[in-house]
Amino acid sequence: MDAARPIVVDETGATKEPDRVTPKATDDVGRVTPMMEQYIEIKAANPDCLLFYRMGDFYELFFDDAEIASRALGIVLTKRGKHLGRDIPMCGVPIERSDEYLHRLIAVGHRVAVCEQLEDPAEARKRGAKSVVRRDVVRLVTPGTLTEDTLLDARRNNYLLALARARASSDEDSFALAWIDISTGEFRVGECGRATLAAEIARIEPGEIIVSDAFYSDHEFAPYLRSLPAVTPLTRDVFDGATAERRLAFFFGVATTASFGAFSRIELTAAAAVVTYVERTQVGKRPPLSPPVRQAAGATLAIDQATRSNLELIRTLGGERRGSLLAAIDRTVTAAGSRLLAQRLAAPLTDPAEIRHRLDAVTAFVGDTAARSDLRDRLKAAPDLARALTRIVIGRGGPRDLAAIRDGIFTAAEIADRLSALAEVPRDLTMAMAALRRGDGTLAAELNSALADELPAFRRDGGFVRGGYAPPLDEARALRDESRRVIAALQVRYAETTGIRTLKIRHNNVLGYFVDVTAQHGEKLLGAPLNATFIHRQTLAGQVRFTTTELGELEAKIANAAERALALELEIFDRLAAAVATASVAIKQAADALATVDAAAALATLALERNYVRPEVDASLSFAIAGGRHPVVEQALANDGGPFVANDCDLSPLPAAYPHPHAGEETEGAGRIWLITGPNMAGKSTFLRQNALIAVLAQMGSYVPARAAHIGVVDRLFSRVGAADDLARGRSTFMVEMVETAAILNQAGERALVILDEIGRGTATFDGLSIAWATIEHLHERNRCRALFATHFHEMTALAAKLPRLHNATMRVKEWQGDVVFLHEVVPGAADRSYGIQVAKLAGLPPSVIDRAKLVLARLEAEDRISPARKLIDDLPLFSATRAPSPVTQADAGLTALVEAIAALHPDEMSPREALEALYALKARLVRAN
Ligand code: ADP
Ligand code: MG
Repeated sequence: MDAARPIVVDETGATKEPDRVTPKATDDVGRVTPMMEQYIEIKAANPDCLLFYRMGDFYELFFDDAEIASRALGIVLTKRGKHLGRDIPMCGVPIERSDEYLHRLIAVGHRVAVCEQLEDPAEARKRGAKSVVRRDVVRLVTPGTLTEDTLLDARRNNYLLALARARASSDEDSFALAWIDISTGEFRVGECGRATLAAEIARIEPGEIIVSDAFYSDHEFAPYLRSLPAVTPLTRDVFDGATAERRLAFFFGVATTASFGAFSRIELTAAAAVVTYVERTQVGKRPPLSPPVRQAAGATLAIDQATRSNLELIRTLGGERRGSLLAAIDRTVTAAGSRLLAQRLAAPLTDPAEIRHRLDAVTAFVGDTAARSDLRDRLKAAPDLARALTRIVIGRGGPRDLAAIRDGIFTAAEIADRLSALAEVPRDLTMAMAALRRGDGTLAAELNSALADELPAFRRDGGFVRGGYAPPLDEARALRDESRRVIAALQVRYAETTGIRTLKIRHNNVLGYFVDVTAQHGEKLLGAPLNATFIHRQTLAGQVRFTTTELGELEAKIANAAERALALELEIFDRLAAAVATASVAIKQAADALATVDAAAALATLALERNYVRPEVDASLSFAIAGGRHPVVEQALANDGGPFVANDCDLSPLPAAYPHPHAGEETEGAGRIWLITGPNMAGKSTFLRQNALIAVLAQMGSYVPARAAHIGVVDRLFSRVGAADDLARGRSTFMVEMVETAAILNQAGERALVILDEIGRGTATFDGLSIAWATIEHLHERNRCRALFATHFHEMTALAAKLPRLHNATMRVKEWQGDVVFLHEVVPGAADRSYGIQVAKLAGLPPSVIDRAKLVLARLEAEDRISPARKLIDDLPLFSATRAPSPVTQADAGLTALVEAIAALHPDEMSPREALEALYALKARLVRAN
């Protein structure tokens, strides 16, 4: 029997935590109960999920699920009955706290299937004593499909990403990405190549990725896919290209997806995979997704994962938001605004016109402080419209979500009015204003008159409809409340007529209302004449319980009235929710517009507060920053009371008539490289990063921390630090450094901005110097990109003599009585020495060690008179002269033959023995070749 747990009501009407009643799994040893049968069937249909099986006020977990959950959640593991002679482990979580437990399970990588009771237990009982309440899974909870505020970070998007691959017969595979935030309805699609795939995924930072089984086990991609968090492989049909268009159109209830724009087949495949997965996890409920928006390749600044973490854009290397660029610049006052800002920061634009539109919106607010602060005050009160909307549409909303819609629509209209009062309304704000006005005022007014002032968390609690809104509801409520009063009066009357002062009328789910007296008074009611009125129901240890005809009648009346009142409220809720769903497109647009306004006003606030300037962004290759500052370090120093020293940086192409001895056709157009030398702690790394961050800020449409900035859009940004500690991934740090440097040298084009910080530090001096040297030459001659290169190899400054676009800069330091003072000032020229010993002294090395080191240095310097770098410059041919060696030279002929021999092997058609023999044969050839 799995009837609902009894509800115990005390005199005050408060519900007490009932004792947990759980069913016996077996009637007799070995026989499976109907309930267990049902459980096993549902579990079998959801093998990859933990099954939350609803029983009354609890979700119960059984068998392995129970063991996993009890360990993950730290809750007690109990046993209940036996299944096939074995104890059944069980644990449970109460309904009211299930969100919290879900959150923890999802966070450690589990998926949960939520199985509800689909009928009233009373209905099941009508079918016979042994019949089981109908249950089924109503939702799969996965990391990428969350909608509850309690499960989500308000200030971050939570994306579900589908990754589809088109196998190209010839050379490169191509990939499509489709991603949604189910909680806000955002839906995007794009295509990319192999080289940018990882960067795209790093930008989106999905909470969950879905791929096809085949792709997941592809030997080339498996290691990468397994290194990502929360990747869910799905059966082929989800990624079936042939049915993709139809599935997508069906989801949106349109005949064809043509009206959404032109998508490639592979994009349709990814988009269809997303909606199919949504339908599966939401079990038929359809969240209000916007139609997919195609993102053109190259529309955003490509920033790979290493650069993102290295620049600490969204979070620090330690994984925290605090200390990141996002935290330093976020002045938004709404969750949606904060999400938008994070999105923009993760994906700066590359189209100068679009960037200028965003900047115009910021400028409008910079120019009108009064309007801005007034707007922000109003925005502060704005609810999270998008997320409330989603919950309502998929049937997971509560009364407070309806209130959020009402408040959101009102705020939107107010904000629109304020915007129209701005001196100048640029394009983005004009568009926002139109969207804000599209909010449905009638709907908001209706919600306002329907909703009570104080709202319960759940629909099922009732009491959220305002008195006076619906006369039939008022009637039912009056009846219910009146009857309760009558019961109280009845208790008084019974106490008087029986003379039992302690007589009480109580309620529980089994007996309903009953008269309750202590055992000593029981006798009195059981005897004449009172037994004519009081009908015995139950005798407990200390209590005897009775009912009366009058009480029975009243009870029926109360139950009916309360039930009717709740039913009427739920009806009203559904009607209002349906009205909200109908208006969902306009509501979502208003929500987006609120976020846009918040982001622009926040960036204006930041600009004024921190004295940022509007950057000039265009299609040139300029990169001229005057008085640039590091946005994060500057704020950190400001808190400590220290000043930040501003520095210029100019990587713009040389003027046409630049009088450089080597200037020629080769140099024209391309940007410059700055080589920065200087001792440790002088501020090299800070300078490098601040310029990268200024580019990111400018292209996301923000003002920048500088006196003036002129930036020709950057299409790819690379930032690497030598010998970064990557022991966590188990790779040699030097190896990582080289892999990452290789990626840059292979990928950076003329529009790229490259930041290399002490490359070559992770190996022996001469190795390191040689690699750094060759890298600079490659950047200058081949990549021809704008770059900043910090190094402790002073020898490299000699390169400026041969590379016309290489500029030497150094960090100014002052020596003061044998100590070094860092001025954090970038000046032209080369550092002549590294001040390593002075820095070591600052760090507190014992004086005896410092003295000894000085002695050793003096000797070494005396012996090393001829500068090795000078010699290199004179002896080495210029890098360009060694350009493009032919891939196979004569000496490689033997190797080529070996490669051909391997290519001729067909491992799939070989027996293990043949394979081994082939291996021996190859090995033998190798020995001969050498
Ligand atoms: P390097 O890379 O040359 O070793 P860093 O860039 O790591 O030096 O800077 C060391 C410290 O110097 C930073 O933590 C910061 O506190 C301070 N610093 C760097 N640049 C500046 C600056 N422009 N103004 C003020 N302080 C700075
Ligand atoms: Mg450094």
